[in-house]
Amino acid sequence: MHEINDIRQLRNILAQDQIRIKALELRNEELTDFIENAAIPLHWVDKHGNVIWANQAELDALGYTREEYIGAPIATFHADQYAISEILSRLENNETLTNYQARLKCKDGSIKHVLISSNVRRSNGEFVHTRCFTRDISQIVLEQERMSELIGRLGESEARLRMATDIVESSFDAIISKKLDHTITSWNKSAEKLFGYTAEEMIGRSSLLLVPQEVMEQEKEMYMRLERGERIDHFETKRTTKENQVLDVSMTLSPIIDIAGNITGISKIIRDITERKLDQRRKDDFVAMVSHELKTPLTSILSYIQMLHVKAKRSGDDFGIQTLARTEAQTKRMTQMINDFLDIARLDDARIRLVKTEFELEPLIREVIAEIQVVYTGHPILLDACPGIKVYADRGKIGQVFTNLISNAIKYSPAGSDILISCALEDEKVEVAVTDHGLGISKENQEKLFERFYRVEDDRTRNISGFGIGLYLVSEILRYHEAAIHVKSELNQGSTFSFTMGIL
Ligand code: ADP
Repeated sequence: MHEINDIRQLRNILAQDQIRIKALELRNEELTDFIENAAIPLHWVDKHGNVIWANQAELDALGYTREEYIGAPIATFHADQYAISEILSRLENNETLTNYQARLKCKDGSIKHVLISSNVRRSNGEFVHTRCFTRDISQIVLEQERMSELIGRLGESEARLRMATDIVESSFDAIISKKLDHTITSWNKSAEKLFGYTAEEMIGRSSLLLVPQEVMEQEKEMYMRLERGERIDHFETKRTTKENQVLDVSMTLSPIIDIAGNITGISKIIRDITERKLDQRRKDDFVAMVSHELKTPLTSILSYIQMLHVKAKRSGDDFGIQTLARTEAQTKRMTQMINDFLDIARLDDARIRLVKTEFELEPLIREVIAEIQVVYTGHPILLDACPGIKVYADRGKIGQVFTNLISNAIKYSPAGSDILISCALEDEKVEVAVTDHGLGISKENQEKLFERFYRVEDDRTRNISGFGIGLYLVSEILRYHEAAIHVKSELNQGSTFSFTMGIL
């Protein structure tokens, strides 16, 4: 009986132990699952510094397989060896590390910035393994780096901005900026001096206040170019001061473009050229006056020559006919030169008026060639493919363009070489070109040729006379006809001057 009781008791104890074991097993399973599958990367390192366990999150974070990671020295996975040495020695000394920042090497070669929290599990004072928690902060570090780079750049642009502001303030030229609706946004000291208005008076007001009525149209044209993003250099125009004085100014205008590439305003550098213009005008007035005075006697000389010419023809005096024809042509050339000078003065005052008519190009070109050939006999002048082309333009002025281009072609090419005048039709336009096989013009000089009084100065041109106004006049006359002159040339190979104009 006693024995039976004992067996029952033992069975009870056994049954309770089994329940407890089951509960422990369940708990163990739960904890294992918890750390194995936790979203935080975890690992253990033994006292030799080798990884002895890591959870899935750790393997996933760095991209290694369990076989590659477990058993390897933890130092292999650190980008900075001093950091892992410090971590291991501090753990050895029983310290608990909290959020130690380190850089880990991933399998794909990239670097992860992490915070490591760790301490050591000991048994009987002996190092068993570390308990390491790793938190990925790469995103935050990247953001911080970007932020500090941005702050650095901001600092640099601030410094640059300060420098630019200093330059603007101390500039000799007036520098102003404005929005597209003309509201002034900045006004430097020189602008105050030039126009007489203070920055306080002008910022927020319309810059059109400074534009005299006479140049308003020109101003609109310029704005259209700026709105297309063009920069305009040394544009000569007029401005009015606070005292109502009209100044001649030279302006350089640039569009102000924001980060998105939109034009938000315009900056202007303005220089007072009133004195220079006055000086120029005095010279021009003098030239105009002299030219005018020369014209009258020259006109009488021409009419006397023509009378003598008629007389020589009547009396059959061959020598007289020839000599007087040349004298007449030379006198006409002289008259033409004087007319060029007078035109320049007229151009300056915008007094040139076009008298437009419908006419055919070819007869005009033939007339010009015939006139020129009386004086210059040494060059064959060929005319190619111009018949029947009609234009609406100022016949006299277009004749002047041909005279200047053909005379230059003759002047700047060796005797006997051909001059070719050709026309090419395209759409509703004709391109007229004058080609020679002469001296040619260097690239550098090609840019300046059309400036007034510009002459190429070299050994080859030194003995060829001229005033440097022919091409300036050509380009101005064509500009008045909304056409432009172009040059194609190679040194010593010859030149082609061409322009395109609308046809009827
Ligand atoms: P000018 O002939 O009176 O000097 P232009 O204004 O007609 O003045 O020409 C300016 C300069 O351009 C000339 O001095 C010359 O050096 C150069 N030039 C013009 N036409 C030609 C050409 N066909 N070939 C070579 N150089 C030329």
